[in-house]
Amino acid sequence: MASASQPYSLLLLPGDGIGPEVMRQVRRVIDWLAKKRGLEFKVEEALVGGASIDAHGVPLTDAVMAKAHAADAVLLAAVGGPKWDGLTFEKRPEAGLLRLRKEMDLFANLRPAVVFDALVDASTLKPEVVRGLDIMIVRELTGGVYFGEPRGIEDLGNGQRRGINTQVYTTDEIRRVARIAFELARGRGNKVCSTEKSNVMESGLLWRQEVTAVHKAEYPDVELSHMLADACAMQLVRNPKQFDVIVTDNLFGDMLSDEAAMLTGSIGMLPSASLGAPDANGKRKALYEPVHGSAPDIAGRDIANPIAMLLSFGMALRWSFGLHEEATLLEQAVQNVLNTGMRTGDIMQPGMAKCSTSVMADTILREMDK
Ligand code: ATP
Ligand code: MG
Repeated sequence: MASASQPYSLLLLPGDGIGPEVMRQVRRVIDWLAKKRGLEFKVEEALVGGASIDAHGVPLTDAVMAKAHAADAVLLAAVGGPKWDGLTFEKRPEAGLLRLRKEMDLFANLRPAVVFDALVDASTLKPEVVRGLDIMIVRELTGGVYFGEPRGIEDLGNGQRRGINTQVYTTDEIRRVARIAFELARGRGNKVCSTEKSNVMESGLLWRQEVTAVHKAEYPDVELSHMLADACAMQLVRNPKQFDVIVTDNLFGDMLSDEAAMLTGSIGMLPSASLGAPDANGKRKALYEPVHGSAPDIAGRDIANPIAMLLSFGMALRWSFGLHEEATLLEQAVQNVLNTGMRTGDIMQPGMAKCSTSVMADTILREMDK
């Protein structure tokens, strides 16, 4: 995938709860990369979510939306918290995030599920089943049953009501997300498993046909398999290491990515990326964020795990800036630090050293120095 050139422009949106604490650690990695690697970043920071509501009365201002469009990559921590829970939906912190995703037209959600050796016991499965697990789920994000028309609840007049959602996919919607999956596979294990319910759903049948056509015409070098979504859910807990890249629709992706996440253990470890269409220069809009939320229960205490946020930045280095070596360096440092027994509270194990958010980041930076 074509990437941005220097200076790399980044919009940081710390948001609410533990957001600012974990985003601060990203800043430190950016400073490290500038100082130690001579890389040039143009970093801006702005408000989103509850922080924006408090300052401007809305969860995302037009000015911040414009900055997001202009940046090479947007990094978001988390939004929301009990303080803003009483508001109507359009005024809530989450509405800011939804507008951001919608206006950037982010159609592919990338959710890696990686099991670090040091945390193999945190998995819901046996160590031998997950040791070395490294899969990537690509979820279609803008189409499918969550958005298809007609939708709604109808009164049938005889005391009955009817709830309707419609699964709709077009050729283009399927093809563009399939291309992302194939591109990703080329840089990894070179395998894509496409997942739908083509046995009972017309949109699933179209999905299978279109993924097959894209494969044949553009990516014949990548190994493609198809699996029904129910079988895939089963295989993910039975033998997850058979998968490399899984590409699937919005609904199945929602479920399968959460299922895969639980194979890895803590939510504080999981990054994600959402990618949009490439512009004339081949540059894509992209938003990177940890899978976890704003965790108001632990906010402001310097105890949150910064790794999901740091690995999200690692994905930005890789997918927006093409800095694969630096991304690997960061990921390797995380792995090495976990191997030494350093743990934040959420991934604490008996006999390990408990540390704060900032000390975890200190240690990762020191490891990158080596
Ligand atoms: P949201 O609706 O914003 O997704 P949520 O209710 O799903 O939020 P999270 O904010 O993701 O929940 O947190 C769920 C639990 O995991 C909380 O108990 C929280 O303290 C913990 N948690 C989440 N992220 C982290 C982290 N980075 N480090 C440590 N614990 C975390
Ligand atoms: Mg949540």
